[in-house]
Amino acid sequence: MDLTALDQLLAERGEPRFRAAQVWRWVAGGARSYADMSNLPLALREYLAASLPLSTLSLRGEQVASDGTVKALLSTTDGRPLETVLMSYRDGRRSVCVSSQSGCPLTCTFCATGAMRFGRNLTSGEILDQVLQFTRRRPGVAPTNVIFMGMGEPMMNLDNVLAACERLPDLGVTHRRTAISTVGWIPGIERLTSTDMPLRLALSLHAADDALRSELMPVNERYPLADVLAACRAYHERRRRRVFVEYVMLAGVNDRYEQALALARALDPRIFKVNLIPYNPTDSPYAGSGREAIAAFKAALEEHGLPATVRLTRGRDIDAACGQLAGRAAAA
Ligand code: SF4
Repeated sequence: MDLTALDQLLAERGEPRFRAAQVWRWVAGGARSYADMSNLPLALREYLAASLPLSTLSLRGEQVASDGTVKALLSTTDGRPLETVLMSYRDGRRSVCVSSQSGCPLTCTFCATGAMRFGRNLTSGEILDQVLQFTRRRPGVAPTNVIFMGMGEPMMNLDNVLAACERLPDLGVTHRRTAISTVGWIPGIERLTSTDMPLRLALSLHAADDALRSELMPVNERYPLADVLAACRAYHERRRRRVFVEYVMLAGVNDRYEQALALARALDPRIFKVNLIPYNPTDSPYAGSGREAIAAFKAALEEHGLPATVRLTRGRDIDAACGQLAGRAAAA
């Protein structure tokens, strides 16, 4: 919901200030229409229904994988495509992977979103509506976790990302269960370090040396690895929370034994926790490392004192890599 527009409409009608909070409580609880909002006067419900859509997003398509992963292709009111993914786990977690931008200006070479033209930053309402579109359609199974790991670099849109995070607890997702993932945008990491919300930081690392990292992620030329890791250590120092490191496994590119050693040397296990990510093939020139190569890489890290987990592959049989669906929609 566009909460700024809601405030304006209510003020124009001379409604008491508590009305906006009333409407938001209904929306956050998954109301499907203004007609559900039984503690609002009927005339106001009708006025809002005619003036302000309940969601800033419309659903343009959906894919459901055999493991239950749901990927939604959404569109903003000005026609910008974006994607949101819901992943359900056996332990009861339901994580929504949200987008912070339509497209992305950072052009990482392994990423389908990076190959798309950058559209714009998403508003806080558009970020919250990504979570809400699942809540609304699946009553009783509200998401438990949110990760900013969909399309876009959230640290480049941090005002809107933090504004959305402030309201996530109203949707049942605590700050401790909210993670913001960055490719290493240092000003954003520094700002996250100083916010009052106990949000988790995740770093997309993908290579432990600057030359390869710059090839995979051009942003590394602007913010080199040593500086990014120093910013992450400062986050840990202040927040006392470990930083999740994501390392996407690319066959023959970053999965060799000596690259595992370099990674183990670069990361202090008291500060960083590594998650190896099997690569979902996109139209990029890369192929994902095989299961054995990933297991060998993990063993090498652990031999050198750096514990690692391997992310469960989700949505293998759909276009689950970030940006694949929206990229196609944008090109159509
Ligand atoms: S990996 Fe993230 S930062 Fe890089 S291009 Fe893709 S969406 Fe942008």
